[in-house]
Amino acid sequence: MKLAARIGQVSPSLTLAISAKAKAMATEGLDVCSFSAGEPDFNTPDHVKEAAKTALDEGKTRYGPAAGEPKLREAIARKLQRDNGLTYDSSQILVTNGGKQSLYNLMQVLIEPGDEVIIPSPYWVSYPDMVKLAGGTPVLVQTDASSNFKISPEQLRQAITPRTKLLVFNSPSNPTGMVYSPDEVRALAAVVVAADILVVSDEIYEKILYDGAEHLSIGAVSPEAFQRTIISNGFAKAYAMTGWRVGYLAGDPALIKAATSLQGHSTSNVCTFAQYGAIAALEGPQDCIGIMGAAFAERRKVMIDRLNAIPGFSCPTPGGAFYAFIQLDPALGLDSMDFCTTLLDQHYVATIPGVAFGASDCFRMSYATDLGTIEKGLDRLTQFVKSL
Ligand SMILES: *Cc1c(COP(=O)(O)O)cnc(C)c1O
Repeated sequence: MKLAARIGQVSPSLTLAISAKAKAMATEGLDVCSFSAGEPDFNTPDHVKEAAKTALDEGKTRYGPAAGEPKLREAIARKLQRDNGLTYDSSQILVTNGGKQSLYNLMQVLIEPGDEVIIPSPYWVSYPDMVKLAGGTPVLVQTDASSNFKISPEQLRQAITPRTKLLVFNSPSNPTGMVYSPDEVRALAAVVVAADILVVSDEIYEKILYDGAEHLSIGAVSPEAFQRTIISNGFAKAYAMTGWRVGYLAGDPALIKAATSLQGHSTSNVCTFAQYGAIAALEGPQDCIGIMGAAFAERRKVMIDRLNAIPGFSCPTPGGAFYAFIQLDPALGLDSMDFCTTLLDQHYVATIPGVAFGASDCFRMSYATDLGTIEKGLDRLTQFVKSL
């Protein structure tokens, strides 16, 4: 069968493939330590589940407005004001099937053939493919462990051309866990404003921060930055709601109207009763965030201390999210694909090779798993590197 050319440019997700292989090995009875997951290992808080159950019982089971339940859009507008200092009317918010769909919709309504989209690398797997599916050209700006995997204002300035439409900004970052400081965010915002380009701020990890790291939304830097900012966020990471599929896009009214029309012809509204769970997540008690955060912080410490004790590994301390990103010394003699494949096949430790994120000399380990698995997995990893 001859498929449309557009799908030929898209690569299958390596992250999903490796997670599936690790699961299959575990099903065969092998003792696999998996660090591949990109999701919290906690359950959704009870009060969120209760709100969705009540909504089901109340018959919130029908089609709703494509842009989302009005009460949820209002709750999101309040959240953006309260947490991020961003003033949006609820009409400027589109409720989407996760942060992933909000970014996908954005690329579809904004990007045309010939448009360039700047993506700092290492990047979240889906960004470049979303840009390509919209007919645009991803422009990757490379970083490495020596610069803590962050782009500088100068690097951004140099990547901008007359065809640049958008910068994709993700802090805290998946896969690197890096958090741009408020001063660094302000410096990048100045470049965005001077060049008059747009920026989409993917803030899905804003609540998962360590050691006093601070999240400043790039849209909150100045009125000029706000005008050029689009916010993408969701409930998956902060509230352990990955399977609920609720996220949102906030921005210019015309953009949100266009994205709502697109969504009206593709998925329509997000699962109605799931949206009531999301309202409870935003408006209910927030202690779940602190509880999960404390567990992540403890695991992070063990993980980073042990990783940095391994010769040939370079792993800047992550300020947010739940990932460690390790750069391999070329002297180890393996690229990350071979390294991760051998580690999984022979030592039953699942990690994600950096090629998935545009960094072939790196690999990613998620610490959204229990301390026992972290200790055991790090023992095996240490042994493996010693044997090289
Ligand atoms: C998980 C994630 C998302 C969105 O996930 P959804 O489950 O679709 O809400 C967006 N960006 C990054 C960087 C992520 O890691």
